[in-house]
Amino acid sequence: VNDLRLVAATSATDALRLFTAHGATPAYLAGGTTVVDLMKLGVMAPDLLIDLQELRAHHAGVRAEAGEVVVGALTTMAEAAAHPLLAARAPAVVDALRLAASPQIRNAATIGGNLLQRTRCPWFRDGRSPCNKRRPGTGCSATGGDTRSLAVLGTSGACIANYPGDLAVALTALGAHVDTLSGDGHGRRIPVGDLHRLPQDRPDLETVLEPGELLTAVRVPDDAWDASLYVKVRDRASYAFALTSAAVALRRDGDLVGDVRIAVGGAAAVPWRCRTAEDLLRGAVLTPERAAAAGAECYRSSRADSARAFKVDLGARTVLRALLDAWSRAQAARGGA
Ligand SMILES: Cc1cc2nc3c(=O)[nH]c(=O)nc-3n(C[C@H](O)[C@H](O)[C@H](O)COP(=O)(O)OP(=O)(O)OC[C@H]3O[C@@H](n4cnc5c(N)ncnc54)[C@H](O)[C@@H]3O)c2cc1C
Ligand code: SF4
Repeated sequence: VNDLRLVAATSATDALRLFTAHGATPAYLAGGTTVVDLMKLGVMAPDLLIDLQELRAHHAGVRAEAGEVVVGALTTMAEAAAHPLLAARAPAVVDALRLAASPQIRNAATIGGNLLQRTRCPWFRDGRSPCNKRRPGTGCSATGGDTRSLAVLGTSGACIANYPGDLAVALTALGAHVDTLSGDGHGRRIPVGDLHRLPQDRPDLETVLEPGELLTAVRVPDDAWDASLYVKVRDRASYAFALTSAAVALRRDGDLVGDVRIAVGGAAAVPWRCRTAEDLLRGAVLTPERAAAAGAECYRSSRADSARAFKVDLGARTVLRALLDAWSRAQAARGGA
């Protein structure tokens, strides 16, 4: 049995101070839906939990700033999903939040915690099997197992886990950033698309954040897309993680695609931006054939065993559907012209 202390941070500075002053294994607690879950499973064993709820006074809520929608990191998923500013300017974010988890979880879980959730790889979560992500250098138990839920993009010989979250995929397509604060009082702004690290030979290093670096806000640029949306394919119609997903932000230029950004999830080690697929579409007419080619291009570098090979085709079709739906919405936004 571990000794565990729970302390409430009174501000972001106080949270950073508590984290850095503590020598052993501190962890932040926001909504707790990942941390407490993983503590029960024996995957995380912090000896100090730093409760961030009091930070809501300054780091929760949704507001407009010059050219951006800013969402405090302690905003709950439910609060963000219901906010009219996000509905009007970043519908893909609202789609991703509404399709995630359950209403009960969305009422407790926060935007910052959602971005930093951990993989659902069953061998990572059983707390016992060899797992390079949980215990570096012990091996990967997924190899040869039922890998159906895991990744086909961005994997390595050390780890084939997927990043399970929905929100980060939508934010990557929209070119959003996170604001962070470090123990030395230094702040930085990181593109959401650069926040998560590919596993390579160190799958235990999941993000570019320094130990104790605190997320304070998400910034979504107000890029006046004609349409943005998030499509999620899963085994059940609700309360299930994505098998594949796709987020698209699209602007028309007459009958052509003026600009487009695509990211995919569910089947990738990190929220996965599809730059070469976007290049196929800019300045082109969005025919179903071209959208299908873009979907296939997103998955061109995929690697899969037979248990998860279906994700390559399913993922490409998810992108196809997201592109065609975004095009229809963009047409509707421009009065069908
Ligand atoms: C049954 C179930 C189903 C789910 N289904 C989905 C789904 O379909 N889609 C989906 O996207 N998610 C899903 N989730 C995941 C859920 O959305 C996340 O657990 C939740 O968003 C995490 O937020 P939290 O505030 O509870 O984070 P916490 O559990 O409090 O924290 C998560 C991690 O982030 C760190 N942290 C939290 N806030 C900060 C901060 N501000 N700065 C730095 N570090 C921080 C914590 O230390 C911890 O490591 C599901 C979860 C469960 C239990
Ligand atoms: S796929 Fe990654 S998380 Fe899963 S057992 Fe292998 S190393 Fe661990």
